[in-house]
Amino acid sequence: MAISTSLKGLRAVVTGSNSGIGLGVARELARAGAQVVLNSFTDTPEDHALAEEIASTHGVSARYIKADMSRPDECRALIEQAGGCDILVNNAGIQHVARIEEFPPEKWDAVIAINLSSAFHTTAAALPGMRAKGWGRIINVASAHGLTASPFKSAYVAAKHGIVGLTKTTALEVAGEGITANAICPGYVLTPIVENQIPDQMKTHGMDRETVIREVMLARQPSKEFATVEQVGGTAVFLCTAPADQITGTTISLDGGWTAL
Ligand code: NAD
Repeated sequence: MAISTSLKGLRAVVTGSNSGIGLGVARELARAGAQVVLNSFTDTPEDHALAEEIASTHGVSARYIKADMSRPDECRALIEQAGGCDILVNNAGIQHVARIEEFPPEKWDAVIAINLSSAFHTTAAALPGMRAKGWGRIINVASAHGLTASPFKSAYVAAKHGIVGLTKTTALEVAGEGITANAICPGYVLTPIVENQIPDQMKTHGMDRETVIREVMLARQPSKEFATVEQVGGTAVFLCTAPADQITGTTISLDGGWTAL
């Protein structure tokens, strides 16, 4: 039987997708033919313009739906308003960096809610439709920090390890029903948030751009190269195609060798 790699006719919801990795994943899914639903907690003309641009570039339908992933009711409403989904990409995430003793409890709660609990709620809302159809893909954007730790990122590391556990449990609950659940674990990806840190790091360390990238930002990434949003998006597309039908309950690292150390 020929193996299909087109996503035509499938609807994808990507949480936290008005910038960075989520937007890159949405673009790659649309390029492969999927209808896409973009999301974030804002509701600006720019948010809706992104969906229009994706629709016109790739000839697919694309919508933007506002929903705050820190709120369980809004996570579930996102899936309902989208009309269900065949592909769910849980990508929304925030970071906060502080020693555990100084870590504000409300920041801990926000990181856990947005980076971990939102995926539980969207998955719970999306699974009945996937089960009824006998096909579905759940892709959780975790991190190298889902597999290894760094100091001062307690909530982020806990949430990312948590989402790897949620991924495995989801995969076991739906095994044999045409639904897979996997986590993508990027190392450093050159998104606007990361790019914006480079000038400050250059000043702090008195280094040029290339040295800051190699010696500071990518100190733990042996390839000394950032992953790209297109690579994360391409991996998500691959997980939606037939060759990946038996890949489930696992993590795929895009970290230039970081977690092999
Ligand atoms: P980003 O800040 O560009 O993207 C985060 C997205 O989440 C944005 O669209 C933002 O609007 C959205 N978001 C934040 N709070 C939200 C909320 N309450 N409700 C809905 N949406 C919300 O950062 P990014 O680097 O693209 O990160 C995307 C994901 O990739 C995150 O889960 C992050 O942990 C993960 N990740 C990033 C890197 C990296 O180096 N950039 C590496 C590994 C994993």
